[in-house]
Amino acid sequence: MKIDNNFEEFESIGNNHIGTSESTPLRHDAFKLSKEEKIDIIKDDVRHIMETLGLDLTDDSLKGTPNRVAKMFVKEIFGGLDPEKKPSASTFENKYKYGEMLVEKNITVYSTCEHHLLPIVGKAHIAYISNGTVVGLSKMNRIVDYFAKRPQVQERLTIQIVRELQEVLNTKDVACVIDAKHLCVNSRGIRDIESSTVTSEFGGRFKDKATRREFLDYIKLDTKF
Ligand SMILES: [Zn+2]
Repeated sequence: MKIDNNFEEFESIGNNHIGTSESTPLRHDAFKLSKEEKIDIIKDDVRHIMETLGLDLTDDSLKGTPNRVAKMFVKEIFGGLDPEKKPSASTFENKYKYGEMLVEKNITVYSTCEHHLLPIVGKAHIAYISNGTVVGLSKMNRIVDYFAKRPQVQERLTIQIVRELQEVLNTKDVACVIDAKHLCVNSRGIRDIESSTVTSEFGGRFKDKATRREFLDYIKLDTKF
């Protein structure tokens, strides 16, 4: 009886895209196996799924798929599970004493919904107010990409980006807004191609209404070059 209840609860968590923790739920033995060992195991698992679906894996077009998918999982779309891939925290002194907020908008997000393993595609917008430390602009793209390359829920991705930048920049004054399409919503289930999901995390001074408003107004700028 209890098992049935739990099953329904887990189904409901997944169907409703509810995240259960701020950090990515990892097993304690997550990095015991090498990347090559993981690819080897996942390759067999993908083959098993395809064969179960009735596909003929001797067909030239399908032959390479299990290995290709396994490599893509481990090295690309879930590569951000590996802490060694975390962008190095090189920061600089704010020598020019720029004291206003810095906004980097329209950072492309490619992630994967952890409830359906389907793509999440969208844009992230980040802002921070330096308290003496600055980061290279591309570092923000790299941080977004690192956390995006995990099975994710969008809320957690937003929070993880902010927490990482708060640590790197040694300030609470960091904000992130993500606007993204979830293919599990757009291409299956309810099949609503138009809907997108917006999440935000405002730290420190971005909790003030005026500061938050300024950030959101910059995001709306229709930048053309
Ligand atoms: Zn989903």
